[in-house]
Amino acid sequence: TRWRRMQGYNCLWLPGTDHAGIATQIKVEEKLREEGLSRHDLGREEFISRVWKWKDKYHARIVAQLEEMGISCDWSRERFTLDEGCSRAVREVFVRLYEKGLIYQGEYIVNWCPRCQTALSDIEVEHEEAESSLWHIKYPLADGSGHVVVATTRPETMLGDTAVAVHSGDSRYSQLVGKEIRLPLTGRLVPIIADDFVDPEFGTGAVKVTPAHDPNDFEMGLRHQLPQLTVIDTEGRMTAEAGKYAGMDRYQCRKALVADLAAQGALVKTEAHINATGHCQRCATVVEPLVSKQWFVKMKPLAQPAIEAVRQGDVQFVPRRFERIYFNWLENIRDWCISRQLWWGHRIPAWYCQCGETIVAREDPLCCPKCGGKLVQDPDVLDTWFSSALWPFSTMGWPGDGEDFRHYFPTSVLVTGYDIIFFWVARMIFTSLEFTGQAPFKDAYIHGLVRDEQGRKMSKSLGNGIDPLDIIKEYGADTLRFTLLTGAAPGNDIRFQLDKVDASRNFANKIWNAARFVLMNLEGDTEPVKKQELDIPSRWILEKFNIAVAGVTTNLEKYELGEAARTIYDFLWNEFCDWYIEAAKLGLAGDSGQRAMTQAVLKKVLTGSLQLLHPIMPFITEEIWQQLETGSIALSSWPKTDGAYNGSQFETVMELVWAVRNIRSELNLSPGKKIPAWLYVDADKGYSELSALVCHLARA
Ligand SMILES: [Zn+2]
Ligand SMILES: [Zn+2]
Repeated sequence: TRWRRMQGYNCLWLPGTDHAGIATQIKVEEKLREEGLSRHDLGREEFISRVWKWKDKYHARIVAQLEEMGISCDWSRERFTLDEGCSRAVREVFVRLYEKGLIYQGEYIVNWCPRCQTALSDIEVEHEEAESSLWHIKYPLADGSGHVVVATTRPETMLGDTAVAVHSGDSRYSQLVGKEIRLPLTGRLVPIIADDFVDPEFGTGAVKVTPAHDPNDFEMGLRHQLPQLTVIDTEGRMTAEAGKYAGMDRYQCRKALVADLAAQGALVKTEAHINATGHCQRCATVVEPLVSKQWFVKMKPLAQPAIEAVRQGDVQFVPRRFERIYFNWLENIRDWCISRQLWWGHRIPAWYCQCGETIVAREDPLCCPKCGGKLVQDPDVLDTWFSSALWPFSTMGWPGDGEDFRHYFPTSVLVTGYDIIFFWVARMIFTSLEFTGQAPFKDAYIHGLVRDEQGRKMSKSLGNGIDPLDIIKEYGADTLRFTLLTGAAPGNDIRFQLDKVDASRNFANKIWNAARFVLMNLEGDTEPVKKQELDIPSRWILEKFNIAVAGVTTNLEKYELGEAARTIYDFLWNEFCDWYIEAAKLGLAGDSGQRAMTQAVLKKVLTGSLQLLHPIMPFITEEIWQQLETGSIALSSWPKTDGAYNGSQFETVMELVWAVRNIRSELNLSPGKKIPAWLYVDADKGYSELSALVCHLARA
C-alpha cells in the first residue's frame, strides 16, 4: 500500500475482522463453564451480548497489534462481518441464492462435532492418522447357506447397517448379490448389494453399509434406496435404535459390542490398522457423521465460473503453484453446508409456520403470508465464511452501487495465508462472480505461516507463540517487519529466529548511524546534484542507486518482497555505508565546490534509499526523513532511475583497495594502522587521479 501510494495511486487498504463464529463461541462458552454456566443458562440474547463484550476486548487487541506493526490502512473504513452493511449483504445473497434454487434445505450427512454441538463443513474437519484396529466380523446369510466376512474400523455402527455391499465385478461374491444377511446381535435382515464404489482390495472385499453414519455409505444408500438408521445421537451416544447398547457412549459401545461378538464367535480377527479419523478443527473431538436437516449451497453451478476465472488469468495466484490446489478443490466440490447450530453469527433468514410454509425474506416477516399464523425463525446461524466470502464487495457498499463500490471494486490484490485458500479465497471468487459479474481481485498473494525456531506451528498448547507486541517492544516494529519479509520466498513458511531479529536490528542501527553522519555534514539547503561536476565515487554510487531503484521496484512488482528487502539492504549496507560514506569523507574535506557536490549526493542517495525502504521499515525512514525534508515520506514520490552514470573508475579503486587490504592482512598489519603503499600503474590509463582515493580508503 505504501509503495503504490508513493507511486501516485489512490490506494486503499481496507481493514477489518470477521466474527469467527465457532471459534469465538467456544471461547466464551469455556469462560462461562468456569463460572459453572452454559449458554442455555444465559439464553440467546444474554449470551450474544457476552460474546460482543469478549469480541470488543480481543478486537481492540488485534487492532493494537496491527497499528503497532505500522500497517498503512484506512482505519476510518474499518469493517466487521457482523456490522450493519455486511449483514445486509449477507441477507441479500442468501435470499438471491434461495430464489435461484442455489440454497436449499436438505437431509444430508454432515460432519457433526458432539462437543461443539454443530455441523461442520468438510474443511473444518482435520484428518489425522492414528493406530486403530480393523475388525473382521462374520455376517451369516439369512438362508443359513454360509456367511460373509466384513471388515470395519467402526464396529459399533453395525447396529445401523442397512446393507452389505460388494463390487459388481468381484467373482467371489457375485452369486451372493440379492441374498440377505442376518445381522449378528440384532438379527435384522439386510440385503447384499453390488456397488462399484466398493474397493475389492480393502479387507475382504465385502463392506457393511451404514447410510446414517458414513458419508460414502450415505451416497450408496441414496443410490440403492436404503433406509437410514440413526444409532448414534448428537452427543455421541447410542440411540434407542441401538437396542441393549442404547445410552452408551460410542466408544463404550464399541468395547461392549466387540466383546459380545467375540463371545458369539462372530469375531473372526482383529488387525492393527492405521486409520485416518476426522477431528473437529476447533476442539479436536472426533467428528461423527450424522444425517440432519441443514442448509446447503449448491456448489457445482458456482464452482465452474470460478475455475474459469483463474484458468483465464482473471485472477492470478502468486506463487502460481497454489492454483493447483484451488482447481483440485473446486473440481471435486460437494455442496457447502452453511448452517451452524450456534448463536454467534448471522441468523438464517428463514421462518417456519405450523402450516408447513417456509419463508425466506429480505425483511423479517410478521406472520405467515399463507395462513396468517405465527412464525418461528430458524435458530441456526450461517457459517462465518459465508459473510467473509462477500468481503470484497460487502465492504464497498454492495448491494448498493455507491462511489466506493464503483471506484475500488474489483480490487487489485488480496493477501492471505495458504491455509485459507478453500475457506476464503475460492469463496470470495465464486460469490463475486455470481453477484457482481467480476472477479474480486486481480492477484491473490499467498504467504506462508510463521513457525517457531524448530519449524513447529505456533500453538497455544505448545506455548511457543510469539506476541508481535513483545518483539516490537524490544526490537521495534521496523525490525520485526524486516525480519518477516526477508525470512521467506512467497508461499513458504518462515521460521521465526531471534538471531535474525538481531541482524535486522543491526541493519536499523546501521541506517541510523549513516543518517547521523549525513545530517552532521549538511549545512542548510543542499544544491541539486549537477551531473557534470560529479567525482568518481559519486558517479559510482548514483549508478548503484539507479540499479537499486530498478531492483526494488521490479521485485515489488513481482511480489518478491524478500528480494526487494535484500536489494535495498545490500545497497545501503555494502555500497552506501561501507564504500560511499568512507569515500565521501574525502570529498567533504575538499574545496567548497567539492564539499557541496558531496553533500548533494549524500542527501540524494540517503533520501532516495529511505524512500525505497519506507514500505518495509516505515518508522525509522519517516523519522530520518523528517530531519532532511518537509512533509511525510509516506506522501513523497517513489524514486525513479535518472539516466546513466559511469562508475567504472571507482570499481578500479575498490580493486586496488582490496589489494592493499589483502597484503595488509597477509602481513598481519592492523587494519587501522596507516601504512606506506606504492602503486605501480600505467601512467596513461588515468590511475594517477585515483591515488588519493585509494590511499584514503586503504589507510595508506
Ligand atoms: Zn468441536
Ligand atoms: Zn402458515
